[in-house]
Amino acid sequence: MKKFGKTLSIGLATIMAVSSLGIGTTAFASQVNSVQTAESIGLNETKSTVFRYGEINDDFLSENTKYFKFVAPTTGYYEFDLTGYQNRIDGQNTTAYIDVTDTTGKSVDSGGYYDQYYNDVKAVAELTQGQTYYIESYYSPFKTADYENNGYAESTINISVTPHTHEFSAEAYSTTTYYTCNRCHYSYSEENKKSISNIYLEKIKYVYDGKLKTPNVIAYDTAGNLVNLTNVSYASGRKNVGTYNVSVTYGGQSFNLSFQIVPKRTNISSVKAGKKKLTLKWKKQQKQATGYQIQYSTSKKFSRAKTITVKSKITSKTIKGLKAKKKYYVRIRTYKVVNGKKLASSWSKTKSIKTK
Ligand SMILES: [Zn+2]
Repeated sequence: MKKFGKTLSIGLATIMAVSSLGIGTTAFASQVNSVQTAESIGLNETKSTVFRYGEINDDFLSENTKYFKFVAPTTGYYEFDLTGYQNRIDGQNTTAYIDVTDTTGKSVDSGGYYDQYYNDVKAVAELTQGQTYYIESYYSPFKTADYENNGYAESTINISVTPHTHEFSAEAYSTTTYYTCNRCHYSYSEENKKSISNIYLEKIKYVYDGKLKTPNVIAYDTAGNLVNLTNVSYASGRKNVGTYNVSVTYGGQSFNLSFQIVPKRTNISSVKAGKKKLTLKWKKQQKQATGYQIQYSTSKKFSRAKTITVKSKITSKTIKGLKAKKKYYVRIRTYKVVNGKKLASSWSKTKSIKTK
């Protein structure tokens, strides 16, 4: 914001200088000369210089622009102040500015035009150690009280260079926070981070296949917008059967999510009925498995089902003590114990059979 304001202000000042103050091309030529003969100014130093405007003893005098040369002792922010001017009596902005350029003539400061609100002329620039910079100071006593009374005015103006540290104060609005330096009025804005109201993993259960698993984290803020997460950390491993944590931090919020890798399932290859018993056979599935869980019930929905656990190398089981001539439903799944916790595959297809 300030940068645009500055360009505009200098543009205006130049137009005013040319049109209303009657400075011609010769004046610009002398300004160029002034860069070449610019007086040096050091850090924490103040230089006084005289600016004139108007007619005295039939001579028209106009000295509006002075140049100083500054070599930055360290890389950092510097403040350039123009003080000692008189304000105009017509209520218009004081015709004063300070502009810092590099040796190619490119402006490097944040805007050193006269600021009506703060009633100051201050430029702040981030400079590089050892580089030479030119300070163009401009002031016209035109329309000051002295000028109005005498038709001529002369002012001693002070130019100073000091180190500058931004002191930001923040003003928060619903979507944006504005930061403004209390000392130089430099400002910038940042979009407010909204808090996360909904967060989850795109997938929370995988079947073991020996490959690394890294499910994406999906998060929405309170406004319902997808949040771009940059601080997500996954537990190591993530290939074998197990439970894995995913931790997320965003602003002041932190989240712990988790997903599982479960063993591959197996399937029943045959069920045979006997007298008050049945014999079950299944396909061996020993990869990442501790054993099998077999469930049987007279209910298709496996209500009040009984569960038998067997080791992973076993592939058949006879279940005894059943009711005679009764239809039974059976199913099987693999499981692995990881850190004392059973992680099971999905169930096999259900088979049914009538006992003898
Ligand atoms: Zn500042």
